[in-house]
Amino acid sequence: MQAVISNLEQILKIIHKNHAESEKLIEVFTPVLLCEENLLEELAMKKPALSMKKQKEHIPYIDVKNLPVCTEKSHYICQKLLEAMKIGLPHLEEVLGDLSAAIRPSSARKLCKEFAADKENQSLLETFIRKNLKKAENADYYEKAFSALQLLLIRACHVLLARIERSLPLIEEHKDMLTCPVCGGKPSMSIIRQKEGQRELLCADCGHLWRFNRNKCPRCDFEKDKNLQFTFVGDNKKERAVECLHCKGYIVEADIREMDVMPQNIHALSLGLAYLDALMQK
Ligand SMILES: [Zn+2]
Ligand SMILES: [Zn+2]
Repeated sequence: MQAVISNLEQILKIIHKNHAESEKLIEVFTPVLLCEENLLEELAMKKPALSMKKQKEHIPYIDVKNLPVCTEKSHYICQKLLEAMKIGLPHLEEVLGDLSAAIRPSSARKLCKEFAADKENQSLLETFIRKNLKKAENADYYEKAFSALQLLLIRACHVLLARIERSLPLIEEHKDMLTCPVCGGKPSMSIIRQKEGQRELLCADCGHLWRFNRNKCPRCDFEKDKNLQFTFVGDNKKERAVECLHCKGYIVEADIREMDVMPQNIHALSLGLAYLDALMQK
């Protein structure tokens, strides 16, 4: 397992070196991603979290609306992540310290469980902050607390879901699905890592990779020659945004056939693709 972490460190160093424009982002996320990987190693499940026999007909396998969340583990995960966030976000030290004191085991469980079920649920975060952080009467403090708590819960839910995903045996190959066969999440990135050039989509929520037709749009499923347009910057054609002329959606894509990236660490590459995201959103 140590190899996974040193491979992750190596990848983060390469991204940092190649992407000066995203330096700040990479510096914020490096301690967080290393913390997550340590947590996933430490809390690895000995047995598959789901009975695959029972799940066979049921896709996605994980019911995120009813995610089983352990009180003690979710609290531990939140506290460890808050420590890692302090390293990359020193200007939020006060807010992160207050959150750390306010998030008790029972509230960690409730926050993680309800956030996993609905990531758009802003009132969950708002209620928690208003109820537990007195200083939130100040608008500036409230803004900071809201974004810190949101980032914390995104990362904590990622650990909880990736922990289940990694426990699963090699699952039956599901191809060309627009959402993750394991957790139902949306793909955040497209990856070419097989010699033959097959494409895989990466789930931002649980880290699962699944095969997807290279000619199809992963946003709307439309398939037609020349429908997908590639945008890249300079000569670096290995990193690109793939845009669909049909639905105008896009996904960032990396060809990593010449890189040594362990599958667990592929998600870290999204930090290096942030500039493409910014470019496409303009
Ligand atoms: Zn997933
Ligand atoms: Zn499309």
